[in-house]
Amino acid sequence: MFESLKKKFNNTIGKISEKVSKDVEEEAETVAEEEKLVKLPGNEKKKEKKASDKEEKESVPVGKTSEEKAEEKVIPAEKEEKSGILSFIREKTISEKDIEDILWELEMSLLESDVALEVAEKIIDTVREDLVGKKIKRRSDVTEFTKNALNKAISEILNVQSQNIDSLIKEKKAKGEPLIIMFVGINGTGKTTTIAKISTYFINKGYTPVIAASDTFRAGAIEQITHHADKIGVKIIKHKKGADPAAVAYDAVSHAKAKGKDVVLVDTAGRMQTNVNLMDEMKKIKRVIEPDLIIFVGDALTGNDAVDQAIKFNDAVGIDGIILTKADADAKGGAALSIGYVINEPILFLGTGQSYEDIMEFNPEWMVGQLI
Ligand code: GDP
Ligand code: GDP
Repeated sequence: MFESLKKKFNNTIGKISEKVSKDVEEEAETVAEEEKLVKLPGNEKKKEKKASDKEEKESVPVGKTSEEKAEEKVIPAEKEEKSGILSFIREKTISEKDIEDILWELEMSLLESDVALEVAEKIIDTVREDLVGKKIKRRSDVTEFTKNALNKAISEILNVQSQNIDSLIKEKKAKGEPLIIMFVGINGTGKTTTIAKISTYFINKGYTPVIAASDTFRAGAIEQITHHADKIGVKIIKHKKGADPAAVAYDAVSHAKAKGKDVVLVDTAGRMQTNVNLMDEMKKIKRVIEPDLIIFVGDALTGNDAVDQAIKFNDAVGIDGIILTKADADAKGGAALSIGYVINEPILFLGTGQSYEDIMEFNPEWMVGQLI
């Protein structure tokens, strides 16, 4: 999952570490060389230093480990001198110029991975802000600082306020009502399979779901969702093809209330997101059943398209959360990284395969861990 994105962030860490420490080391080498040249005639200073070094060796302070002692013993005077200069010069401050080109490259490659422009820009800005002015002493500092900066940038992007579905169900249950979830999204993204997966997820948690076959438009849609419902043993409420989708959803809610079911999962039609009729239909279903959650289902593999679709559905009906399907096959990771930030609603689940159990709750920290 998200391998290509991970590679890009790792490349950036490598490049910044390389660039900044190379600059520093070159500078240090030059100074060291100059110092050496100055000291060459007579080499007296060196001899003096060697003598004093011998004394020092004898008087190693107590409390040091034997390893430390051994290390000190093998440092010849010249080397010690040089390393003294190095560590002094090495304390360099990262400037904007040091990282400018590398961050620009990162931004371009993020865009190639279908990361939304505003997200790519925010990552670059956060990293720049974090790194510029940082004092570094050694190469490992740069690596660590860059890693931390990217970690922070990605965490901020993914950190979208999320609702806990489990407590939502409990709240509704306390009032004797089912939690009503309406699923929106275009055909082919995996919406039907996802509804079956979410049903399974709820069943595993001990809740009883009911499905509403409210895609009455597409040929075969009712049969398809019925097939899934039968396989997982979930009750489905359906009318004939072409029936009013809002009426089907309404019936499912009534059924859930009458039978004390915990969750109503409403499948909906999914023609092109630009279809005005489709959006009007979504608005009508929303008006009629007043869902507690409207979840957008998008295909992670479609990258920017998934984000555009989410924006359209969000504008029309207001989305409360996102499920991205096919994350298991998604190397790019652009949609997963961007979609929540762009519409300011959380990713709730990721689809991770074709079986009914292949769904995982989305956890921003887990995602950061996948990337950095
Ligand atoms: P719908 O038209 O949006 O209802 O799409 P379907 O639910 O019929 O799914 C379309 C195809 O995507 C099917 O072959 C599913 O098995 C597959 N699919 C759905 N979710 C996932 C997923 O998370 N991972 C993978 N690899 N395939 C998925
Ligand atoms: P287009 O002409 O191919 O763009 O199709 P439209 O979306 O305009 O739909 C043609 C007819 O089907 C119109 O009478 C719509 O009211 C009806 N219709 C469109 N979408 C849906 C839908 O999702 N569900 C139902 N039940 N009817 C729809």
